[in-house]
Amino acid sequence: MFELVFLGTSASAPSVHRGLSAALVIAQEHRFLIDCGEGTQRQILRSGLGFRRLDKILLTHGHLDHILGLGGLASTLGHWEALEALNIYGGASALARVHRLMEVVFGSGNIPQAGISLNPIEVGALFEGKGFTLSAFSVPHRGAGCFGFTFEEETRSPFDNAKAEALGIPAGPERRELVAGRPVTLSNGRTVQPDEVLGEPQKGAKLCFVGDVSRTGPLHKAVAGADLLAIEATYLETDRDMAKSHGHITARAAARLAQKAGVKQLALHHISRRYHPQAVLAEAQSVFPATVVAGDLDLFQVRRGKPVEKTNATQRRGGAGGSRWERRPMQRKDAEAQ
Ligand SMILES: [Zn+2]
Ligand SMILES: [Zn+2]
Repeated sequence: MFELVFLGTSASAPSVHRGLSAALVIAQEHRFLIDCGEGTQRQILRSGLGFRRLDKILLTHGHLDHILGLGGLASTLGHWEALEALNIYGGASALARVHRLMEVVFGSGNIPQAGISLNPIEVGALFEGKGFTLSAFSVPHRGAGCFGFTFEEETRSPFDNAKAEALGIPAGPERRELVAGRPVTLSNGRTVQPDEVLGEPQKGAKLCFVGDVSRTGPLHKAVAGADLLAIEATYLETDRDMAKSHGHITARAAARLAQKAGVKQLALHHISRRYHPQAVLAEAQSVFPATVVAGDLDLFQVRRGKPVEKTNATQRRGGAGGSRWERRPMQRKDAEAQ
């Protein structure tokens, strides 16, 4: 399962109800912060998700509404014992800006000692977890080096217990071998092939996250069949020319992409203050009904073969702060932040 928490869903500037761009993806024990607009620290606190294990940050691009919160977040983490390593992934121009920001926070030449590493992204696999892959794909926006991200579980064939029982396969290592795709020979001398006890292969959950984008054409392949696509919808069709000149898309364009690419659920973010969210929703739903306009702290759960579920981060099972350990007060490293 993947969980996506929107921490900030406003475009360009914050509003009363929406913070600037940031989202968190939880995949097993890993947490990936995607973008870090101004005010993200406070949104993390409000979400109750905590700062622990927040060691991987993915940047869709380097515009200020997506990165200005990094200085504050790194400063906080650096002054508390929570920061052992902070791995920031982004395109070259985004990383150059972040480097300058980190120089202000930690001092020139001190970035590596602070535990910050800046990692250029290339299209393709970015991170391998147990049973899932995170990959990056190219996104057209203003300038080069803009990326979208796909989290995808591996295809798995469910183990058919009834068949295994009928074949007399004991519970234990023999079954593990078969699940791993290797034949086993039973004590009665019979060899069982994996396909005798495995069901039809089941596609893993797929979550795609796209930030600012100027055209949807190049994205069809990358987001095809996604269980959940999160993508910006900064403008409405009435302002299509403005969308084009600013390098953004309309709600209708996002919906058409979801429809054509066989996406199951669409979540729109990067919402402009110029529109009522209901108008954004109505425009998208007229093309693709399975659309929601994401709000701050909305949590989406993406499970293999199941419909996407939406709740609020503060309602997350296990308590607002996840485990008790995550809510433990952090120990201060020094007396005061400088
Ligand atoms: Zn933006
Ligand atoms: Zn932008």
